[in-house]
Amino acid sequence: MTAPSPAALAKLTPVLTKRWLSPDAWRLDVYQQLDGYAALRKALSVAPDDLIQLVKDSGLRGRGGAGFPTGLKWGFIPQGDDKPHYLVVNADEGEPGTCKDLPLMMADPHSLIEGVIIASYAIRASRAFIYVRGEAVHAARRLRHAVAEAYEAGLLGEDILGSGFALDLVVHSGAGAYICGEETALLDSLEGFRGQPRLRPPFPATHGLYASPTVVNNVETIASVPYLVLGGAEWFRTMGTEKSPGPKIYSISGRVNQPGQYECGLGITLRELLELAGGMLPGHQLRYWTPGGSSTPLLTDEHLDVPMDFEGMMSAGTMLGTTAVQVFSDQDCPVYATYRWIEFYHHESCGKCTPCREGNYWMKQVLRRILAGEGTHEDLDTLLDACDNLLGRSFCALGDGATSPVTSSIKFFKQDYLDYIEGRKPPILKPPSELVG
Ligand code: NAD
Ligand code: SF4
Repeated sequence: MTAPSPAALAKLTPVLTKRWLSPDAWRLDVYQQLDGYAALRKALSVAPDDLIQLVKDSGLRGRGGAGFPTGLKWGFIPQGDDKPHYLVVNADEGEPGTCKDLPLMMADPHSLIEGVIIASYAIRASRAFIYVRGEAVHAARRLRHAVAEAYEAGLLGEDILGSGFALDLVVHSGAGAYICGEETALLDSLEGFRGQPRLRPPFPATHGLYASPTVVNNVETIASVPYLVLGGAEWFRTMGTEKSPGPKIYSISGRVNQPGQYECGLGITLRELLELAGGMLPGHQLRYWTPGGSSTPLLTDEHLDVPMDFEGMMSAGTMLGTTAVQVFSDQDCPVYATYRWIEFYHHESCGKCTPCREGNYWMKQVLRRILAGEGTHEDLDTLLDACDNLLGRSFCALGDGATSPVTSSIKFFKQDYLDYIEGRKPPILKPPSELVG
């Protein structure tokens, strides 16, 4: 493994991750010694609308995957109405390969809580929720401890820091369903119903939790807010690109020497990120990778120098997504990887709409048949036809996302499919129990 060059190291922008290596930074006393809650004191002395304007000026875009402008979303919350407003933090991080929100909540939970208080003050919400993925019991425990500390210190509850602003914050654990990361399914789940997506529009900004105006933001988005309040919009824009400003936590996993989280300005390339992660494992050659988990199409070594920001990824025919960079090598069969992802989507489909519920089931059967050495040339058309009937015809983004690994693997690695179909590669799975015609 070669050490990263000074040029690569200069790409690191430790902002949200700056306290991660400080021992016990998750404790309130340590967090406060490290500048914690200074942003809240400053924010409470500013008018809520000015905070919304600050977020608009910074260009901060949603870090959950879609990149929607955060200030614009906050600005959609109606003012002067008599309905309660809510802030809901989406901590249901479940996209395959994504691992940025969980370490943030474990290492630095108070930065998220501080962001929640500031954002709630800005949108005039008096109740906020953090919806944590069901499996992340450790993160929920850590957050609950931090919330109790914040109440004890007068940072939550009535008259926060003597400002007159009151906020209650509830940490809610989901039950382990990927679909509850979809914002409206999350809201249904929070209300006590089975988590299934709602029709949008209306968007949560006007009809969210209990049909009231609600901002739903990702953990990393909300945790960025205290730094923005302290540093200002211009400072924030010194990182990243003009249209995708600010720092971003990239999680990299797979065939690299040092998998983990690397915080850099938006727009770093895979080549640079790979260098930071110590390069490919010995004996492995990069073959394909995902920029944002399996819901974004696969890319190849042709895309090593494409900036990983919202625009750069669009130019490569994909989306930035969650910046879950999964790196696969010449030893990782793309057909098998696709099969495993489709197994996941089939398992996690909520079943509400037919294209996704049935489409993922049949794609899984066809892929399995190919990997069992019983596939036909028509199977490739069947897979693409299924994708045509999922993309744009599913009720939510889960169905659309499931098509990404299938269409992109057939585009870049058709030969691998043909090798199974034409018998050049030995079967690696048993045939599906229910054979397709
Ligand atoms: P979206 O583009 O439909 O919406 C993004 C956000 O903007 C939402 O909060 C939505 O309410 C808001 N919005 C959009 N248009 C609006 C309007 N006209 N008025 C008011 N608000 C508006 O994206 P989405 O379907 O919410 O999410 C898809 C993304 O989720 C994908 O990019 C994927 O990468 C990501 N994802 C993330 C995870 C994870 O674990 N973090 C898991 C699965 C998918
Ligand atoms: Fe449910 Fe899938 Fe339809 Fe989304 S696309 S509503 S997950 S069945």
